Amino acid sequence: MRVRAAVLERTGADLVVQELELADPGPHEVLVRLGASGVCHSDFNAIDGTAATRCPAVLGHEGAGIVEAIGKGVRRVEVGDHVALSWTPSCGQCSECRRDLPHLCAVAWPAMAAGGLLDGTTRLSRDGGEAVYHYSLLSTFADACVVPESSCVPISKDVSFEVAGLVGCAVTTGVGAVWRTAGVRAGDRVAVIGCGGVGLSAVMAAVAVGAEPVIAVDAAERKLDVARSFGASECVLWDGSSEGTAAAITEASAGGVDYAIEATGRPEAMRAAFLSTRPRGAAVLIGIPPEDAVLELPALSIPRMERRVLGSIYGSSRPERDFPLTLDLYRDGRLPLDRLVSHRLPLEEVGRGIELMRSGEALRVVLDLTRGSGRKARPSQGRA
Ligand SMILES: [Zn+2]
Ligand SMILES: [Zn+2]
Repeated sequence: MRVRAAVLERTGADLVVQELELADPGPHEVLVRLGASGVCHSDFNAIDGTAATRCPAVLGHEGAGIVEAIGKGVRRVEVGDHVALSWTPSCGQCSECRRDLPHLCAVAWPAMAAGGLLDGTTRLSRDGGEAVYHYSLLSTFADACVVPESSCVPISKDVSFEVAGLVGCAVTTGVGAVWRTAGVRAGDRVAVIGCGGVGLSAVMAAVAVGAEPVIAVDAAERKLDVARSFGASECVLWDGSSEGTAAAITEASAGGVDYAIEATGRPEAMRAAFLSTRPRGAAVLIGIPPEDAVLELPALSIPRMERRVLGSIYGSSRPERDFPLTLDLYRDGRLPLDRLVSHRLPLEEVGRGIELMRSGEALRVVLDLTRGSGRKARPSQGRA
């Protein structure tokens, strides 16, 4: 079938919306008609080359939609189901899957790097059969996508695609870091460094389980105000140094935090997270640093204070368990996820959406993929 999709031609290029050919779903694959896709910082990492990405590629990895067709052997979903998409599909057979770590699947991660689906091949192509690659096994900046069955998580039909899409990346990354990786409990002291969509999701999750205090940290005063509106009890402005900021967090928490969630990917912020922990406390690192980044920590306090560093990818989550749970709590008013959406744009304006996110003007840009579908393809308006 023909689809409109936003293509990254090469590292550093603008995204261009064009028509592509999308092949039918293979065995254990699903064709999803997309309703919405969030624009995420990882999409910039692909554009900037911070994360090596095989091009040409259709970006986007934070989507939700309706199942339109299923391949052979698919059991998890049926045509017509509403689904949120996970970018950590798993094979169920490899050593990591067998030891209960499906989000670290040894088949899915290399397949992701190769720009294919789980079998390493792509379903996207253009004129004359030239291959176009998938991004994060999904490619949601498009009308539709073919994805692994294990990426599809059925959701209730009364949840909007834009909120469900965000649960597919930013929300799960932040909420899962707090609930799953850290296992924050009522009364734990929590700091969250970096108050974008992921950080605010961590703030919401910490507030929801009764952490106290919940300290928001950011370099922008405006973002701290937003964090306060999401329930942060204290705010600390990044003061330009790891040590100074950690001292302010330690003071605001009366002696250091149990968990410092780091959502920027900057080594100096990671160091501040570590330095702000109390004895037995943990820095929980979510933000993705450049490949050559090195983190220096004072070693003595690790044994003496039993300080820890915990890595967290995709919130150590189980999408099939955690997506529906997160959406239930959203519907109950315990996680105000819809407040993350600051801008809604059609696919053609993906370039502007990326600029709005990059400048910090937008909290979260969501592409409404139901708008303008079927319209003739044209280049994106903004600069990527
Ligand atoms: Zn993302
Ligand atoms: Zn696996």
